[in-house]
Amino acid sequence: MRFSDYFAGARRPVISFEVFPPKDDAGMERLRDILPELLALQPAYMTCTYGAMGTTRSRTLEIASYIRKTYNLETASHLTCVGSSRAELDQILDQMRTLGIRNIVALRGDPPKGETKFTPPADGLAYANEMVEHIRAFEKKRGAEPFGIAVGGYPEKHVDAPSLEADLANLKRKVDAGADLVITQLFYDNADYFRYVEAVRALGVTVPIVPGLLPVLSARQIKRIASLCGARIPAELLQQLDAAGDDDAKAERVGIDWCAAQSKDLLARGAPGIHYYVLNKFAHVQQIVKQLPR
Ligand code: FAD
Repeated sequence: MRFSDYFAGARRPVISFEVFPPKDDAGMERLRDILPELLALQPAYMTCTYGAMGTTRSRTLEIASYIRKTYNLETASHLTCVGSSRAELDQILDQMRTLGIRNIVALRGDPPKGETKFTPPADGLAYANEMVEHIRAFEKKRGAEPFGIAVGGYPEKHVDAPSLEADLANLKRKVDAGADLVITQLFYDNADYFRYVEAVRALGVTVPIVPGLLPVLSARQIKRIASLCGARIPAELLQQLDAAGDDDAKAERVGIDWCAAQSKDLLARGAPGIHYYVLNKFAHVQQIVKQLPR
């Protein structure tokens, strides 16, 4: 199935999980061990992120294909513009087809470590909308079944965008190019999501906008991630995390309670599903997902 098939007429919220490709074999082993726990929570599909460079890239496809074949669960591979020419992207797309991967999260990607500005590779792509166009052109060239394509959305604006309006125009470009789903960047205040959905709909964009949530695991981790991607941590959450101090178990409890409340509110107010950034862990996700109406 492709992304759009899950959302068309869905009577239950569409829950999905995102994992990342580990750097080494031990990490791969750990990921394989936790997959049954995640699968027991009955996600509709899972996605695997695309690393900046090196071996984690081939692992993205390996993991997406492994989950699909082992558990008969649909998967999506993320794909970025970083480090690949158009011809190399075609090779990766061919590989996805061979492996039976039918969904792609199409992204620009972040600049490699040490660089502040994204520079498109030689004969490569500069923006995610070009990636979506490239994938749709590839399908025509090969006479292939269309992929399901999701793109990233930023309720609090992408960090590089000069304004929310400019960023919204970019989202529209990505959907006009052929994306059939939006998955958002993490956020901790649902008001940001609902404001964003309203602004996107006002542009005539009708595809599902799935909130992406990252449950807090520790105060340090979330402050670092939130500052990197420009996400605001609401004062109330910050206060609870500060009260937990260096006690990671306490901070994790705060994170679980916050994320469960956020999830229930999102679904009650019409979000089509939730995409959880699970960070290759399961215990906290179990406690959140088990509280959802399904
Ligand atoms: P784009 O949509 O191309 O936007 C990038 C910036 O350029 C924005 O500021 C946008 O407003 C601006 N822009 C776009 N088009 C134009 C134009 N024509 N003219 C001027 N400005 C323009 N990163 C990874 O490396 N691997 C992953 O697997 C990964 N998965 C992710 C999954 C999700 C759901 C999300 C939300 C993000 C993910 N990221 C991942 C992070 C992502 O790569 C970064 O946020 C990146 O900086 C932007 O990617 P994008 O696809 O949103 O880019």
